Amino acid sequence: MEDSYLVAALSELVGPEHVIVGREERIGYAHDRLPYANFRAREGALVGTLPGIVLRPATVDEVAAVVRKAAATDTPIIPYGSGSGVLGGIIPLGEEMMIDMRRMNRILHIDRENNLVTVEAGMNGEAFEDALNAEGYTSGHLPQSLTISTVGGWAACRGGGQESSRYGKIENIVVGLKAVMPDGRVLEVRPLPKRASGPSVLDVIVGSEGTLAIITELTMRIWKLPAAEEIIVLALPTRTSALSLAKTIMQAGLHPRIVRLYDEKETATRTEGIETYRDRPVMANIVVCGEASIVAAEAEIVRSFARELGAVETETRPFDEWREKRYLSITKQWLDRGYYNDTIEVTVNWSEAASLYDTIAARIAAEVSPDVHFSAHWSHVYPEGVCQYMTLRLPPMDQADALPMHEKLWEIATGETLAHGGSIAHHHGSGLFRGPWMDEEHGVGMDLLRKIKESIDPQNLFNPGKLGFPPRPGAVDPYRDRAANV
Ligand SMILES: Cc1cc2nc3c(=O)[nH]c(=O)nc-3n(C[C@H](O)[C@H](O)[C@H](O)COP(=O)(O)OP(=O)(O)OC[C@H]3O[C@@H](n4cnc5c(N)ncnc54)[C@H](O)[C@@H]3O)c2cc1C
Repeated sequence: MEDSYLVAALSELVGPEHVIVGREERIGYAHDRLPYANFRAREGALVGTLPGIVLRPATVDEVAAVVRKAAATDTPIIPYGSGSGVLGGIIPLGEEMMIDMRRMNRILHIDRENNLVTVEAGMNGEAFEDALNAEGYTSGHLPQSLTISTVGGWAACRGGGQESSRYGKIENIVVGLKAVMPDGRVLEVRPLPKRASGPSVLDVIVGSEGTLAIITELTMRIWKLPAAEEIIVLALPTRTSALSLAKTIMQAGLHPRIVRLYDEKETATRTEGIETYRDRPVMANIVVCGEASIVAAEAEIVRSFARELGAVETETRPFDEWREKRYLSITKQWLDRGYYNDTIEVTVNWSEAASLYDTIAARIAAEVSPDVHFSAHWSHVYPEGVCQYMTLRLPPMDQADALPMHEKLWEIATGETLAHGGSIAHHHGSGLFRGPWMDEEHGVGMDLLRKIKESIDPQNLFNPGKLGFPPRPGAVDPYRDRAANV
């Protein structure tokens, strides 16, 4: 940032030791885990820009003061959690000022009467869950990125944890918050069970990915750690029988903590040496938990549903191995070896689920290449439908060839999701990369979101160019020279 007066004024607000201006440190803030940006980085290309400056405030008052200064000087801002997002949500497009939330990292209160926890938004997910576990509780929000994300990032992205089928996504877990608006005022939503006093203000903020407010504090539901659990690992004859099992379980009103269904490819890599999967090539992992008598009853019901669908119960090793590594990502291993690995998670109703998978798989093989790896699992299930989590991988090749193919994979997966009446995102958010599909996703609703953005942030200060909202004048085009690959 060239304006030394502004740097000095900001230093006064947060303390000079919490102002980062060095180029090397700012490079570390210039990208998240967006695979497209990682591909471009292999050739030394940056999708966006560096942040102009990074500030590390410690209180809601400091955040509000910084925002007021930003508004007075027309300086755009990006809130930064831990940069674990995979859609480019924190990528600066015009040297925005970044607000790193990680000094706001304390649990403020555990309310045992109302089963609530109040936590500062920059707290690391693993530290948060460990602290709750030590008190006998869980938040129920356990994303694969638990160790590398913040609670504020979860709420900002409308994230989903691995136990969402029981505890809900983050929008079902967050019941109250504090957030700084673009004019510097502090919005507070009190943590109450339910309301009928107009549309949900909470839901305007949860999922707004830093475009409407900077979340500084969250009040979330907590649950006593379950007293008992039972793990059921099943081999099923087909993908459709596995999907039927999950649908039947959820529509019967059971509350499994884990439901994970794997297609044939993902089953094969997890079940090596277990004979049963040879003629029943689709695996389902179901874990029920709670009071022992409920667990026993739910497990019996799950087993009876499974038998009706031709499932055979197997050893639990595949699930135990998954649980052991549940917070590790394999993406980096592929990236390091020159592959182009990406994941896309979408939602669809049960009636469309089987067809969505088949159509995407067939189109990728026919229109991109039969050599593309396409696989999927389904690990967030609901009475009305399911999240399909797809892995797409191109073998090592020149970027000039790979990037158009990668673009086509996204077009097919996202386009078919919309054609099947689904949503383009289940829990990763929209960020930068899904912006082009936001109009088709929301229709008239996108106009409503734009009007909200324009009216509360008329200067377009907060995370411009994300969530399908317009960038500021002069912003870089993240897809520039895509064909030329530099
Ligand atoms: C290996 C891996 C596994 C993953 N698994 C999951 C998973 O299981 N479930 C899941 O939901 N996601 C998953 N993700 C995606 C990612 O971790 C989540 O989206 C996470 O919620 C982002 O948190 P963060 O703190 O790192 O946010 P960042 O990446 O720093 O920011 C993400 C967005 O939120 C905004 N933001 C961050 N903090 C605030 C705040 N306090 N106020 C306002 N806006 C804010 C940013 O501006 C940005 O737009 C995974 C990512 C990786 C790399």
